Amino acid sequence: MEECNKKTENCMICGEELEYLTMAIPVTCTYCGKAEAANIHCPSGHYVCNECHASDSIKIITQFCLSSSSKNPMEMAKTIMRHPTMPMHGPEHHAMIAAVLVTAYKNLTGKVTDNEIKEAIRRGATVPGGYCGLYGTDAAAIATGIAISTILKASPLTDYERRTANMMTSRALAAIASNRGARCCKRSTYVALESAIQYFREVLGTELEYIPVSKLKCEHSSRNKTCSRTDCRFYAGKAL
Ligand SMILES: [Zn+2]
Ligand SMILES: [Zn+2]
Repeated sequence: MEECNKKTENCMICGEELEYLTMAIPVTCTYCGKAEAANIHCPSGHYVCNECHASDSIKIITQFCLSSSSKNPMEMAKTIMRHPTMPMHGPEHHAMIAAVLVTAYKNLTGKVTDNEIKEAIRRGATVPGGYCGLYGTDAAAIATGIAISTILKASPLTDYERRTANMMTSRALAAIASNRGARCCKRSTYVALESAIQYFREVLGTELEYIPVSKLKCEHSSRNKTCSRTDCRFYAGKAL
């Protein structure tokens, strides 16, 4: 039954109509990197294995980041946010933001390992939802601080590393706080990653890849009841 529903869907990644092949072809799962043979695929090369189709968000974030070779945290976040288990809003975004930053840094510099990615996810997942409104600190900003803290191996007793991680959070938080409207985990994700990419450049000297502002358009407005629409600079402006 569920299988039937899935077959009527378009590509989870790009929305293109899926192709059904009479002979299986080699495919690679976009989320976990597993190589297998399949009769269904996207003409643009995307494929999502059965396990990833059914996985929960934290598992998807973990599998995706551990198998990714991307140096573009925004592109990674966009792909993860297209997965159906990622809610419009929710604390999963905190783990995701920390994870894509550490993953991109790992893939660019080789200075951290999968262990740091897992640690960033573990810490990010401990920050509860609703933090932005209830505690006065958007956890998307905390997630950028978690990424720096993990990369620099900061602790409460370190000097430079601890300050640098806190400064990252404050930069991202100031950028997020200047946006109007109700909370939006997508907007906070884009803004936090923008701040982080700039801060990584200044402080760590790393040039993470990014999507230019003019091309960074939100794909989630239509499912967000409290979307700020034209007040949001990521609004695509389409009546979907
Ligand atoms: Zn596709
Ligand atoms: Zn998979």
